[in-house]
Amino acid sequence: MRVLLLGRGGREHALAWALARSPLVKALHAAPGNPGIADYATCHDIDPCDAPAVVELARRLSVDFVVPGPESPLVAGVGDALEETGIPVFGPGRSGARLEGSKAFSKEFMARHAIATAPFDLCRTLPEAEEALRKRRPPYVVKADGLAAGKGAFIVDTFDEALIVCSDLLVRKTLGDAGKVVIVEDHIAGTELTLLAVTDGKTVRLLPASQDHKRAFDEDRGPNTGGMGAYAPVPWADEALLDRIGREILVPTIEGLRRDAIPFRGVLYLGVMLDEAGKPWVLEYNVRLGDPEAQVVLPVFGGDWAAIVSACCQGRLEAMAWPQAQGAAVGIVLASAGYPGAYEQGFPIEKMDALSGGDILVFHAGTARNTSGQIVTAGGRVLTVVGLGEDLFSARERAYEATRFVSFEGVHFRRDIARKAFI
Ligand code: ATP
Repeated sequence: MRVLLLGRGGREHALAWALARSPLVKALHAAPGNPGIADYATCHDIDPCDAPAVVELARRLSVDFVVPGPESPLVAGVGDALEETGIPVFGPGRSGARLEGSKAFSKEFMARHAIATAPFDLCRTLPEAEEALRKRRPPYVVKADGLAAGKGAFIVDTFDEALIVCSDLLVRKTLGDAGKVVIVEDHIAGTELTLLAVTDGKTVRLLPASQDHKRAFDEDRGPNTGGMGAYAPVPWADEALLDRIGREILVPTIEGLRRDAIPFRGVLYLGVMLDEAGKPWVLEYNVRLGDPEAQVVLPVFGGDWAAIVSACCQGRLEAMAWPQAQGAAVGIVLASAGYPGAYEQGFPIEKMDALSGGDILVFHAGTARNTSGQIVTAGGRVLTVVGLGEDLFSARERAYEATRFVSFEGVHFRRDIARKAFI
């Protein structure tokens, strides 16, 4: 098989690692890739959201399928452009990508198909938003409709703050068109869980459950980030819970998509909140693997990722044997000083190469090679260091041990990744 991977982050490095392990993959290409991905794939300096350029590259390379890492190419319609020219894509077209690209669309989808999600109002004007807020009690949850790179969801304690958020989005247009419609919804207290599933549009199968750590600092303090670490599997996400999520959320989602005539193939990401009674509510859908969840889920997923992707592209997922998860993984994101705010880059990364292998994986995200060939920092989230083990305890020990051997100026990371698995 010849495969083209789209993207340049830690999730894409994990995908490259998983695809390269498959005996089915004979040639792996990436656009644009990163210095870590370059260990497994030929990298092409092409914008993954530029549909004509991606189609041209995929054609020239005669790939069997394209694996998009992030949502942006899917929302931009790269999937549609590839499918139109007969190149299979492991991801939805623009219509399916709206599950992630528009929160208003996904909330209405869930309401229409009786999938549990926080009761909500869609607001287009400030008076509408004020009325929606008055119906609710603190804490208030306000979200921008469109993509905002994780900066479009606000949880605030007072009515006045919530009204300011609505005014910023609707009147001052701080997030541009992404905030033209605002969602005001009930707050659901509970425990969050990420569930990733793959589908060929008919059959849907769950990958091991994981938990992300979105806040910048220990004990879930500080601003929200793209994710500071993750672990998989989640020990308390037992079969009964996963069955319930399958029954109440996953199957109705796939059936709903079919009833709405929205073709969907690829990854379905469920951001789930389990309330105090243990009921699962969908906070959000994404249409791709999470980052950093992919970096821990792919290593514990016991199967051949290329075989799964290929089966989904050919509509024969049902016939695939589904593997047991293997062991546990804990991933720690090493970030630049200042992230998620402003940060400097270009600092050399020390002692990385010797580290990867065996029970430790080092996935690149914000890295680059400088003119003398040295790997330097080139982003907010720089690396994900993943420890593997027979259980979460040993995986966590290995991951933190490994952080002692990789460094760059100003590195910061959370010290409590996966701690909540033990409480
Ligand atoms: P990201 O891109 O970072 O995943 P997002 O901007 O798409 O986030 P959401 O995932 O909808 O937005 O919300 C971000 C976070 O806010 C959630 O992970 C959750 O912690 C919290 N959150 C969202 N909605 C609710 C809710 N109704 N009740 C409680 N917490 C919520």
